[in-house]
Amino acid sequence: MQRQGRASGQDANAEADNTAEADNTAEADTTAEAGTTAEAGMTAVAPADTVQPPFPDADLMYIVDLLPSDEQLRYQEVREFLQSRIRAASIDYWNREEFPFGLLAELGKYGLGGLQTDGTSKLFKGLMYVEVARADVSLSALVGIHNELIVGMIDQLGSEEQKARWLPGLTAFTQLGAFALTEPEHGSDIAGGLETTARREGGEWVINGAKRWIGAGTIADFALVWARDVADQQIKGFIVETDRPGYTATKIANKIGLRIMQNADIVLDEVRIPETNLLPGATDFSKANELLRDSRAWVGWQGAGIQLAAFDVARSYALQRKQFGKELARFQLVQQQLAEILGNATASLALMAQLARIQEDGKLEMAQAAMAKSTTTRLARASVAMGRSLLGGNGISSDYEMGKLFGDAEILYTYEGSYEINSLIVARAVTGKSAFV
Ligand SMILES: Cc1cc2nc3c(=O)[nH]c(=O)nc-3n(C[C@H](O)[C@H](O)[C@H](O)COP(=O)(O)OP(=O)(O)OC[C@H]3O[C@@H](n4cnc5c(N)ncnc54)[C@H](O)[C@@H]3O)c2cc1C
Repeated sequence: MQRQGRASGQDANAEADNTAEADNTAEADTTAEAGTTAEAGMTAVAPADTVQPPFPDADLMYIVDLLPSDEQLRYQEVREFLQSRIRAASIDYWNREEFPFGLLAELGKYGLGGLQTDGTSKLFKGLMYVEVARADVSLSALVGIHNELIVGMIDQLGSEEQKARWLPGLTAFTQLGAFALTEPEHGSDIAGGLETTARREGGEWVINGAKRWIGAGTIADFALVWARDVADQQIKGFIVETDRPGYTATKIANKIGLRIMQNADIVLDEVRIPETNLLPGATDFSKANELLRDSRAWVGWQGAGIQLAAFDVARSYALQRKQFGKELARFQLVQQQLAEILGNATASLALMAQLARIQEDGKLEMAQAAMAKSTTTRLARASVAMGRSLLGGNGISSDYEMGKLFGDAEILYTYEGSYEINSLIVARAVTGKSAFV
């Protein structure tokens, strides 16, 4: 399938090449006349707001073409919606740290609540994560956690009754779950250090403890709480409805990134749930670890998406903003930054496309997911820093989107296992030596 982006990219390329030729001639010739030619070349570039730049979707390596044609069509449809409806609208919500319930319903209409169970390919699901992140990183966190860790856990580890009760609302995005693993005193060492307890009393479980940073903790219908069974010391997964007595969630305010996502401090004080709220597939942590491996890979996709967003903003700005009488895009140092941001983004995408192949074959290991996550988020941090400087002072303001991306990149770098911990997982796999426990 020939995408519009590629076709117009080629046309515009031809135009750009002609212009470049005119510039070369000017450079070679030192006469005043040559100067005029150079100027003519400059004016040959149409204003950025009237003409789409070459490769408008920035997919230079045709990664999207790897999808089958039906998924390419769906991809284009969702991408268009995200760009037109979500991207600009998200900035105000981000500034106000407010959750856009209306936009969530629209994401649901485009099927983004059911990516885990709708049978689409791993590459399609990944590219959806890329495009949501490109429109807004907070909403991509919501979509990713929702699919990978909430729908995924219930679908794969839940009872038939739990699936029937929750999956229809979740996949339609009319209901939300929160994934509650991290605690105030345990982040990187959560698997060994988890302190929240579950005590069995008659036909009930009684949960006590505290959780920190829990996405959607204040707005979700239930939290998937990980607690240590006092009887056998195993970490188990429980569905805790958020209206149960003893459950309190307090929004964590003043975050520098992911400001739309409502992260919460949660206290569980003698919260009683029926024994049927235990996920039967999550009676120790090993199964959850498999899903956490996949969700780590999801952050790898986010790392690619945020860089494409940074590239979009940087390119558009460079084509419009003029200094010294010409567009920033005509200065070599600016061009280098654009090329580096896009190179980083494309390397990230290509890495993730290969990860999707491995995942499709059922061969994804934690070290590969950790490598993908740590690499794309490291590159993302570098890319948004370049984008930030390319916008000069305006790069500081979220009004120009780049400031928003700059803050959001910090979260990708740290959550789902910090950059350092993921690097240590990779290095452990290739040396056979653990440097962190
Ligand atoms: C915005 C946001 C959203 C989040 N959403 C959720 C969520 O929805 N659900 C959830 O359960 N959790 C969530 N988290 C938690 C997240 O996964 C943790 O923040 C992360 O795992 C790091 O844990 P920590 O913050 O306790 O840092 P710590 O573990 O205290 O680490 C602090 C620093 O020490 C380093 N470090 C720690 N141990 C070692 C070691 N052995 N060797 C070298 N360096 C080390 C780390 O790399 C890091 O740089 C979220 C976090 C944030 C910031």
